Amino acid sequence: MYNYKYNFEQNSQHRIEILEMSDEKCKFSFEGDLSIANAIRRVMIAEVPVMAIHFVDIIENTSPLSDEFLAQRLGLIPLVSYAADSKMYDWEADADSIDDQKTKVVFTLRQKNLNDAPLEITSQHLEPEFGQVGEMAIRPVRMFSPINGKEVGIPITRLGKNQSVHVRCHALKGFGKMHAKWTPINIATFRHEAELLIDHVQAQQLSLFEKQSIRDSCPMNVFAMDANQELIVNAIEKCVFCEECIRCAESIKKPRLIKMQHKKNKYIFTVESAGQLKAVDIVKQALIVLRKKVDEISQDLSFAQQYQQI
Ligand code: SF4
Repeated sequence: MYNYKYNFEQNSQHRIEILEMSDEKCKFSFEGDLSIANAIRRVMIAEVPVMAIHFVDIIENTSPLSDEFLAQRLGLIPLVSYAADSKMYDWEADADSIDDQKTKVVFTLRQKNLNDAPLEITSQHLEPEFGQVGEMAIRPVRMFSPINGKEVGIPITRLGKNQSVHVRCHALKGFGKMHAKWTPINIATFRHEAELLIDHVQAQQLSLFEKQSIRDSCPMNVFAMDANQELIVNAIEKCVFCEECIRCAESIKKPRLIKMQHKKNKYIFTVESAGQLKAVDIVKQALIVLRKKVDEISQDLSFAQQYQQI
């Protein structure tokens, strides 16, 4: 378990504790109101800004894909977006003095197949025009072969002999509410945390074999045996409410041994990133966006109260 806790404010009823963390996946427990939990989930899906290709200038396209199809495929390539904060939305830029680098990143794709064998065109062929480098660069998410681990890129199209494609792609900042290509999330779900109560009177009557049967009946390894060979709940956050343990207790004629219920105001979130941002960064960004919205609402409310008093 990760020793990471996020308290919203001193004395706040809301708390976040990270349970699992990798670049792609973040699992955390959230303690607080259901409506706030749902707001965090919705903001993660729809309002965390990332970059995506939005306009494509087709200069030449003799590939098997039509222009519209090609543009649509380019738009769905996830772009690493750590630097999205440094970009403006295109509607924020001054129309008279649009500085491309402030609002967008431009990629060029220019390939021609001169061989008999087909040429696979992938996201690796997209060249940034503004010479971005380093980990923070806005670039296509890297994809690796599950067979040999080599970088293969995200497939775009395939060129036959003498076919060519030459396009300029304009990547803009946006968020999932505008179009699904701007959502940084594959999955964002939450569920109640379970509360398991073991009846100690019945537990005293169990043989060692029966205790081990209950421990092993759980597919998520929620139970363990302590040093005194007593059955204990060891990892409650892993419980998925499958009720296998209860069925096992019934089969050994101890139907009241385990009582299971939802823990009030405690939820387990699972967030999987589509690659533009690390999963934990999506959570942090969502909290920042939500905080900003709440601040705006409270400012509006205090203004409305002042107005009523006049
Ligand atoms: S309900 Fe399922 S996951 Fe939860 S403790 Fe029982 S067996 Fe394990």
